[in-house]
Parts: sequence; structure tokens; C-alpha cells
Amino acid sequence: MNILTPEEILHDVFGYTEFRGYQSDIIQTLLQGHHALVLMPTGGGKSICYQIPALIRPGMALVVSPLIALMIDQVAALKAVGIQAACVHSGTTREEIFDIARQAQEDTLKLLYVAPERLMTDKFSRFLSSLTLSLIAIDEAHCVSQWGHDFRPEYQQLQLLANQFPDVPRIALTATADTETKADIRHYLGLEDAKEFVDSFDRPNIFYQVIEKNNGKKQLLQFLKTHGQNQSGIVYCLSRKRVEDVALFLQEQGFDALPYHAGMSFEQREKNQKRFLQEDSIVIVATIAFGMGIDKPDVRFVAHLDLPKSIEGFYQESGRAGRDGLPAHSWLCYGLNDLVLLKQMIMEGSAADIQKQVELQKLDAMLSFCELSSCRRVQLLAYFGEHSTPCGYCDNCKNPPTQFDATVLVQKLLSCVYRVGQKFSASYVIDVLRGVENDWILSQKHHLLSTFGIGKELSEKEWRGLTRQCVAQKLLDINLHFNQALQLTEKSKAVLKGEQIVMIRPLKRDKPKNTPVSETWLRTEREEQLWQALRLWRKDKAQEENVPAYVIFPDRTLRHIVQSRPKSIENLSLVYGMGQTKLERFGQEILGIIHKSDQ
Ligand code: ADP
Ligand code: ZN
Repeated sequence: MNILTPEEILHDVFGYTEFRGYQSDIIQTLLQGHHALVLMPTGGGKSICYQIPALIRPGMALVVSPLIALMIDQVAALKAVGIQAACVHSGTTREEIFDIARQAQEDTLKLLYVAPERLMTDKFSRFLSSLTLSLIAIDEAHCVSQWGHDFRPEYQQLQLLANQFPDVPRIALTATADTETKADIRHYLGLEDAKEFVDSFDRPNIFYQVIEKNNGKKQLLQFLKTHGQNQSGIVYCLSRKRVEDVALFLQEQGFDALPYHAGMSFEQREKNQKRFLQEDSIVIVATIAFGMGIDKPDVRFVAHLDLPKSIEGFYQESGRAGRDGLPAHSWLCYGLNDLVLLKQMIMEGSAADIQKQVELQKLDAMLSFCELSSCRRVQLLAYFGEHSTPCGYCDNCKNPPTQFDATVLVQKLLSCVYRVGQKFSASYVIDVLRGVENDWILSQKHHLLSTFGIGKELSEKEWRGLTRQCVAQKLLDINLHFNQALQLTEKSKAVLKGEQIVMIRPLKRDKPKNTPVSETWLRTEREEQLWQALRLWRKDKAQEENVPAYVIFPDRTLRHIVQSRPKSIENLSLVYGMGQTKLERFGQEILGIIHKSDQ
């Protein structure tokens, strides 16, 4: 049998025209028998880096992966392009294992995915010793580190693999790249001398948008109506209760919305996740428990209905959109209450004080990101240590907010905070500023203060916005131990004394203009009609074969078909993602659909 080159496999098996980024270098490293450490953002194309060498090197590749759902989908995707692959996890039966073992002995199995807890048993270890291994890939390698956010103790035992198979090339892959995690990966996986490949963490196809919350659900609905119709997407909320509430609300508004959180039964969660993966217009409303190991490439939007706890978390969650490289939208809606709630959760948590300080700092960084007036992407990438220039594809680049001098307004707010004794929350201080004569204010005699009613020029909402910006700029603090009272800081003195001016974002933010509207690439009714016909066909096929829709074809392939309208098998073979196996299996059917739509 002729051995194909990596380029030929990329083209003939996967149906892609060229390698991205470091893919080709990584593949060469493994082919030469060396180890590799790969840091690439979600959607960067990590899998191909070990799948192609697995097809070229003799023997079977062992792939360690932490999540069952992910393994099952990867195996389905490989089989769909004609590659022999299997997986072993806690749900695999004895008979299935028997069958897998037989295929491995006969040398027909090219890739075996294994959950780490299964892998480290004596029995499995003996089984592996009896085989030729082409390579060992360790996916989501950051799970080895206690610094990371998904620590799995079983991962640390994987160092035994390095001892057992010193001559088999190992590749560790992750999308988490901080220094401590990286050092742990090298240490625990015996990769001290591995070649390192670090890709840019930019996700150029994701549009970032942040808005201020006034009625979160209503704002979400508005967003979904313009960007989320007939699309797959994820809405993240802070609590289980809110997940239930928002899912119900969206269902009432006619969306196919499903809840997902750790309080639901395992079966129900699995069911909802499966529908999300298999169909192509489900909105999952979830707590952050949802998403790790979700490989669905055509998630078109990720919405955060509450402030995320850290930039790392936000980047990972929003990064689940647009893995296929097509335009996707990250939308975030946040308010002052979110901030107070999150701070409270941190303070009341059981973590050590030092850990709480770290968490509070991460939250501060997240807030500054939200309050930013300049390019969002520049700030995100800078957070991960990458230098970049304004992207032109975020809300601030599209509609640069013009900052204005708000010194006088801020002085009014700060002096009112001072006058009420730094003992009252934002709502109360704002009422005093706006001259509201409620019982509480009267009972405190605060209607007699010099600052009572000096802020009538702004609405309550605008004062809240200003307060939040002051917190973000550290001109005000929120005392979590005392009624969430607003308090002055070191920095506020200079402003009160008139020694320092304060520039802030406009309080009335313009409605976002020019944000990308989904599906604008469909120019004609004829295109729209073919697109829908192909999607319908894909849905039926996916149900028939019990695999996710994207395993049949990702959106990108269908889109390419709509745009190029191939009339022959030869032309169809040029379409993105159209490898030989899929061409043979589906080619005629697709030409039939195109033909029908031409009539
Ligand atoms: P990751 O594991 O890094 O998140 P995947 O390996 O799932 O990313 O790849 C993301 C998507 O990009 C998949 O649909 C994959 O088939 C596709 N892809 C990978 N490499 C290429 C390439 N060279 N050209 C085109 N598409 C690619
Ligand atoms: Zn930008």
C-alpha cells in the first residue's frame, strides 16, 4: 500500500486544502519520532495534528481524553471520513472492549480514545504492551495541573506512560497556556525536551460585544431576534434558578431553548446536550457546568447574561462559538448587581483568604474589560501576553465610544457618598442625589444634606452606570461586610479636591450599529432555499446515523456548496471538508439536491 503524505491525507481524507498555523510542523515533529507540546486556541485545529501522523506511522495511536461526549463525537467524526477509530470509557461494555482488542491485534484500528481512569489499570497496561503504538496524544493536557481550572488527579498518573513507552512520540495539547500550567504539563507528562508550538490565541471570527444590563432577559431576546434565529447558541447564566427561568422565557418566545445545569438529573442533562449537538438550531441555557468537551463547530453565538468571574473563564466560554471559523458572536450583558453578587459569593466562599484575593482581582480585571473604551480584542490578547493592534471587529472598534469629562458628576457622587457617611448602598445614594423623599431618607434626615437633589440631570440608570464606572476605575469601593455600602478610596480624594479629572464612557450608550447580522452571506432567495434544503437533508441523515449534524457536514461545507453550486462530482470534490469517503457516500445525493433546487 502506498503511504500518503500529510498533504494528501489532509486533502483526500479530510477534504481541506491547506494546513493552518503550525499543523504541518507539528505533524513532521511526530513523524520524526519527537515529542510535542501544543498550545492552540479552541477551534485552532488540534486534532488533525495527531490524527494525520496516526494514519502514517505504523501501529495504533492512543489518545487520552477526559470527556466521554468528546471522545464519542471525535470517533464518529473519524469514522465518517473513513478512519478506523474507537473509544474506551466507563460506559464501554466487555463485548465492545473485546471487539476493540481484536481490531487492535489485527492492526486495523488506527486511533483508540481512552479515558484516563480506564487507562491506568493493570489490565489495560498489559493490553497496550502487546501492541505497537504509533503515538500517544494527551488532549486537554492542562487537566494535569492544579493551577488549571479543570484539574483531574488521574492525569498526573499519565507520567507512567512515559516510562512504559519511552520511544513512542508523545504530544500534549491544550488551549490553556499560562506558565504554571505549562510547567506542570512538561513535568507530569515527561515532556521536558518536547518541542513547543504556541499559536496565537486570537479568534478573529468572533465579534465581541458588551452591553450594560437594564432588563437582561429583554435585552437577550432582542439580541437573539437579530442574531440567534435558527442558530445554535449557548446562553450562560450565573445560577441554576436563573437558567430555568431564562430557558422557560425563551421557550415562550418561540425559541428551541433547553436548560442545562448540575442540579438536573444526569439523564435529562444528557438528553438536552444530545439535542444541542445533533440538531442545528437549539439554544442551550446553562451554568458554566456546560461546555467543556463540547466540540460542536457551528455554535454561532455565546451570550453571557451575567458577568463572568474571570477573563479566563469568559474567553474559554465565548471561545465555544465559531470553531468552524465562520462569523460568530460573543455577547455579554452585565450590571452593577452582578458585580456585588459575585463579590459576595467570593467572600462567603470557603476558599482561603489569599485565594479570595486572587479571585477578587480576577473579577476586577473582568470588570475593566467590560468598561473598556478601546478595542476588546487587544485587551483580551494582552491579558494572555500577546501584543496586537485594534481589530476592527468588536463593538468598540465599530463604534468607538467617545469618552467625556465627567469630573463634576463624579464629584457629586463621591461627595454624596461621603455625606451619607459611607454607610449606604448605591441605590440609596442615587435616591439622595436625585432628591427622592422616601421614608428611609426622611428618617435619616438626608433630605437636609447639601447633596440632596443635586443630581436630577441624570436618570437612575445613568447614575448606576456612572457608579459602576467609578468602581471599575477604583474611585469607589463596595463594602461587602456592611450593606454593600459605597465607600471612598485613596484615589477619590484627588477628584474631590479638584486635582484630578475623570474621563468616562458615555452614559447613554448608542444602540450598537453595524454589528454583523447572521446569514447575510445568503444573497438570493435561491441560495436561501438551497441552504435550507441542505440543512434539512443533513438533519435527517444525522438522525438516521445517530451522530451530530456536523459529523455529516459542518456548516462551512454546506455554505461552500451553496456558494459554488457544483454540478459534477469532480467540482463537488473541491468543496471544503469533502474528503473521498464523504464524496462517495453523499456526493450523488447532494448533486440531486442542487439539481432539484435549480429547477
Ligand atoms: P480544536 O481541538 O483545536 O478546538 P478541532 O481539531 O476540533 O479544534 O478543529 C476545529 C475545526 O477546524 C474542525 O471542524 C476541523 O475539522 C477544522 N480544521 C482543522 N484543521 C483544518 C485545516 N487545515 N483546514 C480546514 N479546516 C480545518
Ligand atoms: Zn476591536
